[in-house]
Amino acid sequence: MLPIALILGIPFVLGLLFGSFLNVCIERLPRGESVVSPRSRCPDCKAQIRWYDNVPVLSYVLLRRRCRACKEKISFRYPLVESAMGAWFVAGLAPYLTNGFQHVYFQQPRATIPDLIIQYLVWIAAGFLLLGLAIMDFRTMKLPDSFTITGIFIGLFLVCAQAVFLGPDEDAVKLQHQVRINSAGAGRSLGNVFLTGPEHLIYGRLLAVVCAFFLLFGIRWLYKRVRGREGMGLGDAKLLAMIAAFLGFTPALVALFVGLLSATAAALVLLARRRADLATKLPFGTFLCIGGFVAMIVGQPIIAWYTGFLR
Ligand SMILES: [Zn+2]
Repeated sequence: MLPIALILGIPFVLGLLFGSFLNVCIERLPRGESVVSPRSRCPDCKAQIRWYDNVPVLSYVLLRRRCRACKEKISFRYPLVESAMGAWFVAGLAPYLTNGFQHVYFQQPRATIPDLIIQYLVWIAAGFLLLGLAIMDFRTMKLPDSFTITGIFIGLFLVCAQAVFLGPDEDAVKLQHQVRINSAGAGRSLGNVFLTGPEHLIYGRLLAVVCAFFLLFGIRWLYKRVRGREGMGLGDAKLLAMIAAFLGFTPALVALFVGLLSATAAALVLLARRRADLATKLPFGTFLCIGGFVAMIVGQPIIAWYTGFLR
């Protein structure tokens, strides 16, 4: 009983703390302020928040949802983001606990311990950044570089770490991309024409990042040509590149598809209710983030289902 409570309790508390920090980022980054100093203040009366009033979720409940100094209501977003991160940190462990250390959301022939740790880091880092970006874009229409660009570097760093731990004969990607060339005169299969092993993993992911960026860049250009106005910012392209850095190109495509689909659905609902007209801007980054979450949680089954159709 105790080990399970520890295994789930520690990531939950850690998730709450990261959620608390994420709230600071969401509040300050779009305004270009530092997330380190000054200390947390009440957004209404600017009174400094004491450490014991800054405990994730608990303080919100104990203070009865009001600032201690000015009694102004504290936004529900704070405990929501904190508990969502706590739940996310725990949910990342679910595949390990239910499948006995056989990973499900990143298809791999065999996963080593470093692999599993890296995949958990991908899960929590990408979740943190996606949730933050989703809320920031929704509130301010801004996707700060300090999240998207930093996210691209973290994603690529984790891929490099994964490549370091890849055995010399091991090739996690080769199995999915095996290409056989059957040209006239070729008596035997030439096998894999791409780079294999760690190089394949790193260069493949770099290529995924660049392709994802220019894919959205192209869509942005096309939209501008057709509609005659800016539909999405460069931030959206950086965001899709970030998703590709963490998950790879195909999951990024899933994220883009889900993002476009959900944005269109939201636009149609708003138009039907006359809450918007054709000139209304939607926070497309928020929908891309939703797509990113979908790709992380059910991306592999979707891709498997789709490629099953093509066969
Ligand atoms: Zn206050």
